Order: sequence, then C-alpha cells, then structure tokens
Amino acid sequence: AEDSLRQAQKMEAVGHLTGGIAHDFNNLLTIIIGNIDTVTRRLDPSGDPRAKRALDNALRGAERAAALTQRLLAFSRRQPLDPKQIDVGRLLVGMSDLLTRSITENITVRMDSAPDLWRVEVDPHQLENAILNLAVNARDAMAHGGALTIEAHNVHIDARGAAPAYAAPGDYVCITVADTGCGMTAETISKVFDPFFTTKEVGKGTGLGLSMVYGFIKQSGGYIDLQSAVGVGTTVSLYLPQVEQDDAEPVAAQPAQVEHRS
Ligand code: ADP
Repeated sequence: AEDSLRQAQKMEAVGHLTGGIAHDFNNLLTIIIGNIDTVTRRLDPSGDPRAKRALDNALRGAERAAALTQRLLAFSRRQPLDPKQIDVGRLLVGMSDLLTRSITENITVRMDSAPDLWRVEVDPHQLENAILNLAVNARDAMAHGGALTIEAHNVHIDARGAAPAYAAPGDYVCITVADTGCGMTAETISKVFDPFFTTKEVGKGTGLGLSMVYGFIKQSGGYIDLQSAVGVGTTVSLYLPQVEQDDAEPVAAQPAQVEHRS
C-alpha cells in the first residue's frame, strides 16, 4: 500500500510538472508554427527551392512536437473517470477489430473470455485504452513475430499472499495480455511503471503507457501484475474487483437518482 501511495504521489508530481511544461511549450510552438507559416507564404516562388524545403521540415518538426505536447497535456490532465458496470467479455469483442488493425501480420492474435464473467465497474473507455496500450507494447516487443493472447476469466483470491501478492482477498475479473516477445530484464521490470521510463527510441515511446495503466487500475480499485522473462515474453494481468450486478437488485420504480461522482 505504501508503494502504491508513493507511486500515486510521484504521478501527481510528474503530472503537475509535465502539465506546466507542456502548456508553455504549446504556446511557444504556436508562435514557431505561426511564424514558419508567415515566412512560407512570403517566400519568393522563383527563389531557392531549398529554402521552401527547409521551412517544410521545420514545420513538420514543430507539428510533431505539438502532437507530443498534446499527449503530455492529456496525461497531466488525466480525465476524471466515468465508471460503468460492464461486461469485460463484450468489451473485448468490441475491441477485436481495433486490435487486429493495430497488430502486424506476423503476430497471431487470440482473444478468449470465459463464459459468465462477473460484472466490474470501471470506465469502459479508459479500460479499452489500457488494453490497447498493453497490446501495442506486446506488438513492439515482437518485432520478429509471435503470439498475442488477450483473455479474461474470474478469479477468487482467498488469502493475502496469493498472486498477485498485494491484492486484497476477494473476487476479481482478471484480464491478461500476454506476448511471446523479447521480455524485460529485472532492471526494466523495476522501472516499468515509472512515468517517462522507456527503452524505445525518441518519438516512438513516451514512457507513459504503463504508468497510465497503473494509475487507472489503482483508481478503479484493482491490481496489476506483471511477469516477464527475457527471450520468453511478458504477461500483464489486470485484476478488477467484482461488483454486484445492478439488475440483481430489486429495482422497483424509484425516483431518478442524482449521479454522484466520487
Ligand atoms: P512506452 O511504450 O512508451 O515505452 P510504457 O510505459 O508503455 O512506455 O513501457 C515502458 C517500457 O517498458 C517500454 O519502453 C519497454 O521497454 C517495456 N515494456 C513494456 N511492455 C513490454 C512488453 N510487453 N515486452 C517487453 N517490454 C515491454
């Protein structure tokens, strides 16, 4: 629990810092892009074509930087969650098109949900985002092909010390995203949830994926577990607590309830 508190504080601090920097950068980039635009429009059409090309390159670089600062702003602003009772099996089926489109041909994708999954209460868009993040990481880890398996099943954790070791006893829906990719060293594993930790080249990774997934799962009352071995692959498991199904309760006609957001 102390670990996750520290992680939350770290995320909070990084969020503030990033938000401030990204905001200032965004303003500066607006100035840069505006001026490139002005110069481009006043360029003598019969002049040196290299000048036009150099300006185009500068513009493209500035636009990429702007896209990056947008992502950083979105990270620091972390949208409030909008939790809903959902059926994870249905959510996965709904994602299959998106997932197959994001994965390359040399990777086989298998998706499987156990029947009668318990209900969970999470923000469906953020959960989709989290699964997509994990799938993209899996893809990146399998440059030479492999297998991506996404599955969901019910688990009952009945004592502390059961996997994941830090989970409170209870009923969970467990979503696993497993790959047969390059795996991670112990050093990488120890930093993998840190914001901005990435081993990817500049422009390919921000190092925010897993820290965002971590933050979202903790905020949703769940647990995340990561197993990885170099040359074997990686399995990330998301444990989401079961909630009582709405329609199992007596839903006599009641006055419309005011929604509370905690
Ligand atoms: P990013 O993908 O932008 O680098 P993440 O936070 O999602 O940021 O991941 C951080 C790092 O963790 C990656 O750069 C990579 O080194 C490692 N990693 C994440 N997922 C996997 C995976 N499935 N297999 C191997 N390494 C991974």
